[in-house]
Amino acid sequence: MNKAELKKFKEILIKQKEETIEKLSQIATKDSDGDYTALHEEYGSADEDNATELSDQLDKNSLINSFVKDLKQYEKALNKIEKGTYGKCDHCSKKIDKKRLEYFPSALYCSECQRKIEKDVI
Ligand SMILES: [Zn+2]
Repeated sequence: MNKAELKKFKEILIKQKEETIEKLSQIATKDSDGDYTALHEEYGSADEDNATELSDQLDKNSLINSFVKDLKQYEKALNKIEKGTYGKCDHCSKKIDKKRLEYFPSALYCSECQRKIEKDVI
């Protein structure tokens, strides 16, 4: 991959990372350990209000988990750009298909290994 392409992917990744941090900051606060905690919204003190608060909290927690997972992935991909291993599969070191990277710039694995990882084969 040439420098211009790398630069392009780096910019996309930084943008995606910033967008994710922005989305996170709307639903969570970050503590000094870097952990995100869902913002608590008070709906009221009735049982149904508490139930709404609880389900709201659970929704936020699952969103936070997926955003944090995304963030880690962007950071790993950005790290790979720094190390010069971007575009190579973390598992088998084969080149990741460029179309896959265009569609999914934070891909760490080739589609073959990704499939295996999702199936828990490796
Ligand atoms: Zn692979």
